Amino acid sequence: MDRGLRFISSMFKHDKLNLFLFVTLVGLQVLGIVALWTDFQWRYFPVMFAVYFFGGIGTTLYLHRYLTHRGFEMPAWLKFFCATSSAVVLSGDPVTWVGDHRYHHLKSDTDEDIHSPLHGFPYAHMMWLVRKPPEFRERSLRYAADVRKIWYCRLWERPYFYVLPHLTVAAILFFTFGFTGMLWSLYVPMLIIYNFTWAVNSICHMPRLGYRSFDTSDHSRNNLFIGVAAFGEGFHNNHHAQPRAAAHGHKWWEFDLTAWVLRLLEKCGLAWNVVWPTPAAKSGAGAASAVLLAEPSRQ
Ligand SMILES: [Zn+2]
Ligand SMILES: [Zn+2]
Repeated sequence: MDRGLRFISSMFKHDKLNLFLFVTLVGLQVLGIVALWTDFQWRYFPVMFAVYFFGGIGTTLYLHRYLTHRGFEMPAWLKFFCATSSAVVLSGDPVTWVGDHRYHHLKSDTDEDIHSPLHGFPYAHMMWLVRKPPEFRERSLRYAADVRKIWYCRLWERPYFYVLPHLTVAAILFFTFGFTGMLWSLYVPMLIIYNFTWAVNSICHMPRLGYRSFDTSDHSRNNLFIGVAAFGEGFHNNHHAQPRAAAHGHKWWEFDLTAWVLRLLEKCGLAWNVVWPTPAAKSGAGAASAVLLAEPSRQ
C-alpha cells in the first residue's frame, strides 16, 4: 500500500505538468501499442528496421556520444544526417537533450539529479520530461551553449520546426503503406527506442538491477539486456566512470552497437579523434574520464 502510494506520488513530484507534452508522449506510445492489434505485413519490416536503427543511432551516436560528450569528430553532413535521424523519432531537441544530460552527469543520484530513480521509477523513466521545473530550461541553455551555436540545433529549439522531419516521414509512410503500415513502420520502433532510452536513466540507476564494474560516486549500473537493446547505452556504469569514452561496452560480451558503428565509420575515414577507453582510462584517469568538454558558458 505504502509502496503504491509512493509510486503514484512520485509521478507528481513537481506541481506543474506540461500537459501538452504528456499527452503527446503518451499518444505517440499508444500509436505503437495500437499497431500490435493490426495486421503486420513483412513489407513494413525493412522500414521498421531502418527507423529503429537510424533513430537509435541518431540518438546514441550523435546526441549522446558526439554532441554531449564530444567523444569523436565526424563530417558536417554526417552530423546533420544523424541529427535529423534523431529528430525523425522525436528523441528531443539537441540543446535541451545535451543540457539535461550534462547536468545529470554532474549531479547523478543527488537530489538535484533531473531523473534519478531516487525520485521514484515513473519520474526517472518518463515523468521528468513532462514535470521539469521552469528554471531547468534556463539551466539547460547554460550547459549547452556550444550546441546552440549549431544552426539546426538552434532552429529545432522551436517545436514547430523540430517536428518537421517526423511529420515528413510520417506523411511519406502514410501515403506509401496506409495508416496501419505507418503505425508499424514508425511508431512501433519509436515505442521501443523511447522505453529503452528511458530505461538507461531509470533502470540503469537502480540498485540490484545490474552490475558495477567501477566504483563511481553515483548508483549507475551496467545492465546486459538494456545494454544490447539500447545500442550499448545500458553499460551505464562504464559510461559514468568515463563519460567521454565513445565505447560503453568494455568486455567482449558487452555488445555495444554504437561503438561498432563508430569503428566502421573510423575505418571509412568518417570519424576521427575517437576517445576510446584505454587502460589508463579504465583505472579512472585520462581524457575519457572527463565529464564535460569544458565549463559551461555563462549567458
Ligand atoms: Zn546516468
Ligand atoms: Zn552521458
